Amino acid sequence: MAEEKKKLPYVLEKKNGWEVITSEEKAKAYELSDKYLAFMSKVKTEREFVKESIRILEEHGFVSVDKKESLKPGDKVYWNFRNKFLTAAVVGKEPVSKGVNIVASHVDVPHIDIKPYPIYEDSELAYINSHYYGGIKKFTWPAIPLALHGVVVKSDGEVVEVVIGEDESDPVLTITDIAIHIARKIQLGKNISEAVPGENLDPLIGSVPDTDLDEKEKDKVKKYVLKLLYDKYGITEEDLVGAEIQLVPAWSARYVGIDKGAIGAFGHDDRVCGYTSLAAILDIDGAPERTAIAMFFDKEEIGSVGNTSSASYFVDRTLADLLYLTGEPTDARTLMLAWDNTAVLSADVDAAYDPLWKGAYDPSNSPYMGYGVTLTKYTGSGGKYHANDAHAEFYAKMKKLFKDNGVVWQTGELGKVDEGGGGTVAGDFANRGADVVDIGPAVLGLHTPFEVVSVVDFYYSYKAFKVFYEKYTK
Ligand code: MN
Ligand code: MN
Repeated sequence: MAEEKKKLPYVLEKKNGWEVITSEEKAKAYELSDKYLAFMSKVKTEREFVKESIRILEEHGFVSVDKKESLKPGDKVYWNFRNKFLTAAVVGKEPVSKGVNIVASHVDVPHIDIKPYPIYEDSELAYINSHYYGGIKKFTWPAIPLALHGVVVKSDGEVVEVVIGEDESDPVLTITDIAIHIARKIQLGKNISEAVPGENLDPLIGSVPDTDLDEKEKDKVKKYVLKLLYDKYGITEEDLVGAEIQLVPAWSARYVGIDKGAIGAFGHDDRVCGYTSLAAILDIDGAPERTAIAMFFDKEEIGSVGNTSSASYFVDRTLADLLYLTGEPTDARTLMLAWDNTAVLSADVDAAYDPLWKGAYDPSNSPYMGYGVTLTKYTGSGGKYHANDAHAEFYAKMKKLFKDNGVVWQTGELGKVDEGGGGTVAGDFANRGADVVDIGPAVLGLHTPFEVVSVVDFYYSYKAFKVFYEKYTK
């Protein structure tokens, strides 16, 4: 037998996560990914993420912070801001002013919204007028089955939840694409970013005229659609004005590959971090040393704007509430000290190295499928513009934490220099004074309607968040 070769202590060995994961951990990974598939097949909007997560949190003993007059170590609470931004916390033994451990993800995803005045008829076909949200590749949205998910708020304040296209017996909607036979001038010769114009992302919602209506009545197809919506949901065309309804792929999350090594779903970016950080905070046993917080934001995909985003003062409210309810001072200086001592994992996905598109990556600095959770030193684009750049001191502490606790991790950069780039919620926490680093699994097909993530990377994301909650100290 050949003698085992000596390891070289000065060389970083990179290993595929599948080669090192134990059989117990593999079982845990699939137990969690099975649940994630069911979750992602159902949850397709930020509102649905918040609602379903609150249900799960309450099942695990978390209560709304409004019901609390004081908090002690081990207490579990959540904050629901406007039904779109959720925070969950397990109170730790150390004072909040000494800092907390936050995992921050965003649960909005690129999709298509309906316009405020949504339904129109053209050539005896009824369509939904739409305006896309976030960085979608427009040419990936036609010719797939679409579902409608959202809420209509009636003038008396009643909120009507609408989901069409998810039940097997439901009809779906779809954006029709032009036949290739006649597309030469109108589409195929164009720059791909212009091949499907934004105004063409209108799905077909009806094609049958209401024959009960008078001969002379106009827009009978549209009126029939409105009648069906009225009959099913009790909503009128006026109610639809200003409603929040999203067009999303009508398919379920599925394992990808005959080895089931990957998970395909709509919205991994960034619900994969939302879900794994939720699972991690649920699994905290007793009171952690430092208060553990999971934040799930809205509006990241359009620049983190508004009061449900990471730029919102609600983020500070969470810490101020914790200071107040644990009996600490709530003055500005104490809040600033708390931020100064706080550590944040900006949990978001990276773009996995795709051998079909090699030219977009620097192979030595890209995250690879199966190589564990990606710890991203900096984000940004074009010379790190708008980057969050984690301090080397904090980055080193995270590397050690993961090494000491069996978290398989890798580093990664979003594509090669000058190829593009992107940002996350990290900057909003850095601005508040916290230490923050970007981390999450790498995704194939990022920002397409069906994104793919490796099961081991999914699992080591969960494990990274759990270890951070339980073991990270300043
Ligand atoms: Mn993201
Ligand atoms: Mn994104």
